[in-house]
Amino acid sequence: MNNWSGHLVWSPDKTAHPSSEEEIRELVLHALENGKNIRTIGAGHSFTSLCETDDILVSLDHYQGLIAVDKNKMTATVRAGTRLYLLNELLFAQGMALENLGDIDQQSIAGAAGTGTHGTGAALGNISTLIRAIRLIDGKGETRECSPEKEPQLFRAAQVSLGALGIITEITLQCVPAFNLELQIGKTGLEEVIRSFPELNARNKHFEYYWFPHSGYAMTKKLNPTDETEEKEGFGNFVQEYVLENYGFQLMCDLSRWIPSATPGLSRFSGRTVGPYRKVSRSYKAFCTRRLVRFNEMEYSIPLAAYGDVMKEIAGVVNRQFRSILFPIESRVVQGDDIPLSPAYARDSAYIACHVYHKKDFRAFFTRLEDIFRAADGRPHWGKIHNLQHRQYAEAYPDFQAFDAIRRQCDPEGVFLNAFLRSVFGISA
Ligand SMILES: Cc1cc2nc3c(=O)[nH]c(=O)nc-3n(C[C@H](O)[C@H](O)[C@H](O)COP(=O)(O)OP(=O)(O)OC[C@H]3O[C@@H](n4cnc5c(N)ncnc54)[C@H](O)[C@@H]3O)c2cc1C
Repeated sequence: MNNWSGHLVWSPDKTAHPSSEEEIRELVLHALENGKNIRTIGAGHSFTSLCETDDILVSLDHYQGLIAVDKNKMTATVRAGTRLYLLNELLFAQGMALENLGDIDQQSIAGAAGTGTHGTGAALGNISTLIRAIRLIDGKGETRECSPEKEPQLFRAAQVSLGALGIITEITLQCVPAFNLELQIGKTGLEEVIRSFPELNARNKHFEYYWFPHSGYAMTKKLNPTDETEEKEGFGNFVQEYVLENYGFQLMCDLSRWIPSATPGLSRFSGRTVGPYRKVSRSYKAFCTRRLVRFNEMEYSIPLAAYGDVMKEIAGVVNRQFRSILFPIESRVVQGDDIPLSPAYARDSAYIACHVYHKKDFRAFFTRLEDIFRAADGRPHWGKIHNLQHRQYAEAYPDFQAFDAIRRQCDPEGVFLNAFLRSVFGISA
């Protein structure tokens, strides 16, 4: 078993694919009775060791689909294993959509929510903030249902739970009527985009940009709802988005690995070739891109007000010390929320994501960047590489102890704990 990037490899004793809630409960009871550990996996797209176990790994790939929709409330209840690409199509068939999404659609809905997966938008929270109710099987094998009205503390904890409270079986999501988005890709300078970051976020419903290391180029991506009808995918867009951003980029990554000194030139070339383009498509097609080049990633959320200084420092460090970094560095924003383990807890946040080609060593680069993020009061994305100790998590999350109390109440025997979660919660083996 391995994660998407191939960086994590583990061998569970058993991998189960339950297709009913009763089978899920039986797996938990079996683990409890036999002193086994049980971890749930979505699409395995996390870069941290959240899903590792030597014992029982549970995949809900056979537990997908729509359970119910409420058109008046614009909510949809889905099985927790539902992959986002399927969810988006199922919702569209009902005339519904999720208001915001991240970069890709491969994750399961419970897996995406489990780590606080986010897109971008100054007035929009992460995917977990779209959840209106959760049903799960806890560490005693009991069914728990929660919402803002019913067991509200459990609900908030379960919105970003790292799979530590139980196996989520159903999620009710707030949707909006299906809509189209206008995508505008543009090119600007790094200094300019840092200076106008607040304004660009205020003017566009979804704004993000990618800075090409060792160059002054930044590729901007603006997404705004439109009444225009969906356009057929143009050949030029297909070449830019699919061929160049994947196969062309893969070739550059290999070149950069073989001849590291060529990297700054390759990055400048990539930045120069970004052509402005525009298209209109269904919301979920505009949000999500195809990522065929594998990488490892670190992403931190920092207070929005600190963004400009942090990004300038990172650009300086990359240009001076990490001449072989080729992957563009991505900046997004997320509205603050009240979810204890959300990296955007109680503050509007900027997220900065750094990627390293999967065949390259990322350790020195990520360690240096983590110092910068931590100095800015940063909180790591739970699904992306970071190196914190229990004490640092507890300091970073004001409601960390409240979450842990709910975790102990849901899972008194620690059936859902693995080595990674033990280190997060400061529990010795
Ligand atoms: C190419 C790529 C692009 C990405 N883009 C973004 C992005 O744009 N924005 C962003 O924020 N992140 C992004 N990520 C990170 C990714 O969204 C998260 O790591 C996410 O958690 C992965 O979802 P998954 O279904 O693969 O879950 P997994 O990685 O398999 O699991 C994640 C967590 O969810 C738990 N879990 C899964 N199912 C259940 C369940 N039924 N009940 C309880 N717990 C469960 C697991 O135990 C684990 O703790 C990206 C990752 C990759 C590889």
